[in-house]
Amino acid sequence: MRIKQIGEFGLIESIKKKIFAKDRQVLVNIGDDAAVIKSSPKRLLVFTTDTLVEKVHFNLRYFNFEQVGWKTMTANLSDIAAMGGLPKYALVTIGLPKFIESEDVLSLYRGINKIARRYDCKIIGGDTTLSPQNLFVTIALLGEVEPGLFVKRTGAQKGDMICVTGNLGESQAGLEYLKKYGRGNLPLVRKHLQPYPRIRQARILVRNLKINSMIDISDGLSSELFHLTRETNLGAVVYEDKLPLSPTCRKLASILNLSPLSLALSSGEEYELLFTIGKKELNKIDSIKRRVNLSIIGEVVDQSKSIRLVQSSGKTRDLKKTGFVHF
Ligand code: ADP
Ligand code: MG
Repeated sequence: MRIKQIGEFGLIESIKKKIFAKDRQVLVNIGDDAAVIKSSPKRLLVFTTDTLVEKVHFNLRYFNFEQVGWKTMTANLSDIAAMGGLPKYALVTIGLPKFIESEDVLSLYRGINKIARRYDCKIIGGDTTLSPQNLFVTIALLGEVEPGLFVKRTGAQKGDMICVTGNLGESQAGLEYLKKYGRGNLPLVRKHLQPYPRIRQARILVRNLKINSMIDISDGLSSELFHLTRETNLGAVVYEDKLPLSPTCRKLASILNLSPLSLALSSGEEYELLFTIGKKELNKIDSIKRRVNLSIIGEVVDQSKSIRLVQSSGKTRDLKKTGFVHF
């Protein structure tokens, strides 16, 4: 079967069936943002990897090498954030086409290092290979999390409030601007080229609230909502009026003739955190909001596989799994 027929998530499912091995020390196995390993009674390791490929994830017409490095590191840091952990050590693999110069490679590492340093994460090795056509960067990242604090994708419960950090739609708005105008230094363009992972925010959340489930938004809000509710056979209702869309994003959407709502629902690579909490946590939310920019956008409901949007008009419609898939 062609991979397009089975689809990215179908393929990962069949890989999982083939290689899945139960292990007492593996607390979170394939299927979450990162794996969690109990390496000793007091220590949990968080382990993830993510790749950025030229012409799939970035185009060198508008990304410089520093930004490519930065963004690959952010994608990995974001998966550690989604588990509630702190990053520690990274291995970096680069696939280099012949046109790349050594200065470009050093710029790429400058970007990796700049964002890694902010979170005290150290690069301790990697691999270098020729790539016939396109540049790619793969990072494997090891982090740590305290035993009581890690959060899985699968713990959502009926009645949970669905929350999101930061604003939505921005990365894609920035990308669409770049596609149309080639370059630009707008804040949303910067958010696309050099996004920040929500490590600090994740740590505040897991230390102060009982987070039932969490995922980072790398493929788009509606797609992540499916991931968040799928394994527990639950559904979600989100409210258009509650989706955090900044005035800057609305303005850019109007310049580009795009719907801000579609941007909010399908923009990937936001690296914001989507999480659910029980209603009992509501009394703590105001004090958390002083430290973390977050919005309550909906509720987990008892309807399997149904992700619904209550529009501003009051009408309700089903959401599709829009967002980025590879094939
Ligand atoms: P994310 O968007 O958070 O990086 P992915 O959608 O890439 O997550 O992956 C989902 C889950 O599937 C993760 O647990 C990841 O480790 C696992 N996974 C993805 N690709 C493979 C693969 N080729 N082999 C084994 N596991 C994989
Ligand atoms: Mg993720």
